[in-house]
Formats: sequence, structure tokens, C-alpha cells
Amino acid sequence: MIIAANFKTNHTRASAKEYISFVNEYLTKEKDVEVIIFPTATALDNYETNPNLTIGTQNAYSVNKGSFTGEIGTQQLDEFDIKTILIGHSERRHILGESQEEIAKKYAFYKELGYKIVYCIGEPLEVKEQGLEQTLEYIYDQFVGIDTNYENLILAYEPVWAIGTGVTATTEDIKSVHSVIKSKIDKPLLYGGSVKVENVAQICSLDGVDGALIGTASWVKEDFVQILENIK
Ligand code: 13P
Repeated sequence: MIIAANFKTNHTRASAKEYISFVNEYLTKEKDVEVIIFPTATALDNYETNPNLTIGTQNAYSVNKGSFTGEIGTQQLDEFDIKTILIGHSERRHILGESQEEIAKKYAFYKELGYKIVYCIGEPLEVKEQGLEQTLEYIYDQFVGIDTNYENLILAYEPVWAIGTGVTATTEDIKSVHSVIKSKIDKPLLYGGSVKVENVAQICSLDGVDGALIGTASWVKEDFVQILENIK
């Protein structure tokens, strides 16, 4: 199982440090789960962690360095030995306006450098309401320009309507999308969208679900450790 925590724009550098040390302490004893934490860029650092805890970046531009105001590149990531990146998150697609073309460029850049990529896909509510076929069509478009034949690729299906809403996709919703993606792309596939302490065990036990990408419920460190306990 792979369980990832996406802090989004939450936590300070100080609280992220405390959080990471708390989770790392827990993982000293629990070795059967792979954990990835995505803090904000300001909280990236050279954390000493167990082999099953990786720190990744929520975003970065597809450059080493240069004139790209507000962005970070690999020069900044290398300083902290960060080799894991989240790409294609729905908040970057729909709020920050990243196009599929930009996302594909970013993907190709970080793939070339051998980064572990957690690549997110997922449909908005108006597409879901049109049915499974349209949902899958929409998701296929999110693979345009993405070479999925990549050893360090992890996929995350995060239906937009389930993100931060408290509305978790039903078992049937998850199974139907995961089984199709899995049949086409043989990579670990996480589910994300209102995963919490109460539902993580059930979601992670579904066929075709290899773990979870968690926002809100991951932000309190004790809850996140409880999530890790619940999937044992
Ligand atoms: P929530 O867990 O808050 O729904 O967020 C999911 C998510 O976007 C993780 O990347």
C-alpha cells in the first residue's frame, strides 16, 4: 500500500517538521506501508527519514533554474534531494489553470530526470453526471502526451467532486474507473477524494486500489497515523 499526504497550502515549515518527525517515528516500527508526504515548497528540507517515508514536492516548473517568478525548479529541489513530484492535480488543472499541454511538458521533464511521479487524473461533477463512458473519455484526455510506460510512475484517481467535499466516491464508482485504468496501465493506482480515518480501510481493500492520496484528513498528524493503522 502507498499512502500519500498532500498538505496543499497548509502547515508551516515548523509544523511540517514536527509532523514529519511524528510520522517517521511511527514508521520506524511499521514497515509494510510506503508513505509519501507532500509539504508546501517552503517546508521542503533535508529530512532524515526511514526508507519507507519519502518527501515530495506538490509542484515545480519544468526547468533547472531561470526567470520564472514564483516557481521552483530542480536547482531548488536538488538542494533537499527531492526526487518525487505530484503532477496533474485537479487544483493545478482547474484553479491554477495548468493545461494538459503544460502538464505533459512537466511530466516529460521530470520523467527524463528519473523522478518518482504521482500523476493525478479525475473528472469534474458535470462529467461524472454524464455517465461512465464520458468519465473515461475525460480521463483518457488527461493522458494525452503522457508516456505511461515509466517505471517510477504512480497514478492517482481523484474525482474532482470528491476532493475536499466530504463526498467520497462510492465503492462502485471507484471500482468501475480503477478497473478500466488498471486494465490499460499497469501501474500502482491510488484513490483520492475525501479519504478519512473511517473509510480508508474499506477503500484500500477494493480490487484495483493500491493506496490513497489524502488531503484534509492527513493534515492532523495523529489522524494520519490512525489512517496508517487502519489499513494494516
Ligand atoms: P481531500 O482528501 O481533502 O478530499 O483531498 C484529496 C486530494 O486532493 C489529495 O490530493
